[in-house]
Amino acid sequence: MALDKASEQKVCNWLASKGQLVCHLCQGKAWGIGDLVGNTIVPTPLAATSLNLTGAGVSLYVPLSCINCGYVVFLAAAPIGITAHLRAAQPTAPAQPQANPEEKKP
Ligand SMILES: [Zn+2]
Repeated sequence: MALDKASEQKVCNWLASKGQLVCHLCQGKAWGIGDLVGNTIVPTPLAATSLNLTGAGVSLYVPLSCINCGYVVFLAAAPIGITAHLRAAQPTAPAQPQANPEEKKP
């Protein structure tokens, strides 16, 4: 899921508050912000029935990639203030037949 502009700004502000992020491979200092990614939270202790992940939570991360060499780091999204606002699916009402305004009553 691509970050919206407000979330990208949160990432930039958060990074600026922590100091310069330096690439571990090439010592580059320019980073690109990737799309928001999530990992499924696996319940522990892990059991065979735990592998049914229906309803399992998700941890969100913001990937940053060094624009020089491609080295990628992941930042937890929640401390940056990026959270998912998931809505439960709402049941939809069945469509009601529309009265035809052109229909004339006898
Ligand atoms: Zn690099």
